[in-house]
Amino acid sequence: MICSRCSERAIISQRYSGFHLCQGHFIEDFERRAAETVQKNAMVKDGERIAVAVSGGKDSTALLLCLHKILAGRDVELIAITVDEGIDGYRDDTIKAARAIAGQLGIEQKIVSFREEYGYDLDEMVRGKDAAPCTFCGVFRKNALNKMAKRLGACKVATGHNLDDEAQSVMMNYLKGDIHRLMRLRPRREQPGLVPRIKPLRDMPEKEIALYCMVKDVFTHSRECPYAKLSLRADVRDMMNSLESLFPGTKQSTMQGFEKLAEMAKGMRTQVDLRACRKCGEPCVEELCKACELLGKLNVNCITASLLYI
Ligand SMILES: [Zn+2]
Ligand SMILES: [Zn+2]
Repeated sequence: MICSRCSERAIISQRYSGFHLCQGHFIEDFERRAAETVQKNAMVKDGERIAVAVSGGKDSTALLLCLHKILAGRDVELIAITVDEGIDGYRDDTIKAARAIAGQLGIEQKIVSFREEYGYDLDEMVRGKDAAPCTFCGVFRKNALNKMAKRLGACKVATGHNLDDEAQSVMMNYLKGDIHRLMRLRPRREQPGLVPRIKPLRDMPEKEIALYCMVKDVFTHSRECPYAKLSLRADVRDMMNSLESLFPGTKQSTMQGFEKLAEMAKGMRTQVDLRACRKCGEPCVEELCKACELLGKLNVNCITASLLYI
């Protein structure tokens, strides 16, 4: 297979576009498309400090590499934030990988841990509970990232969500009939206390992100989070992957359909005004933010558990 743009050997065949690309043209194509996503959506402005959520996995590693490349020469400062959820046998390696890539690029890295912020590791939070670990993890990770970004004076938080993640989220909300959450996937208007989030890789397929890391020769921790298989997302991911292989371009068309719906819903007030959490001051919908609500339940459980041992 020969590259569609030169006479080199192709390393990827993009079935959705019909192009075969060699290593050099693949990297060029990848970075150009990510730069287009950033530009089209005005994600980054000059003079800004951008906090990049870097877990050490392939998506966030590619994100940091790619942003570092496409923003070079612009007056933009990148700073990496790594969240340590406390997942035994998994997180230590990914934190090392995150430190390595930030160090290689000369980008400062800050680590924020669940244990320091909330008093518990994720493993402790979910032990003996029916709740899906991903619910706990998602709530506390968002909360920790937002707090850390504010402490660092960052204007935005960039996350490594890719096309597969986004298409899965859209599909999951359709399946659950949760239209409010579906509409919240759109870029939100700015709210006090909430650092705006950007997803520069949201148009890039997961496979191409893995390939980008491979050809850029960066180590990434490829093992999946041990809790991932317990979520609906895992089933939706398998379904979307088999549809994509039968009908190339399905993930893109899922997103295009969603964008059209979001456009039609523009007048609708799908986003409520946020207020400050009574306990911690973080932005939230109810009186307490989700993190404080979950923490309250955890503390009650821990007190009950310790009483049993008296
Ligand atoms: Zn080529
Ligand atoms: Zn709170």
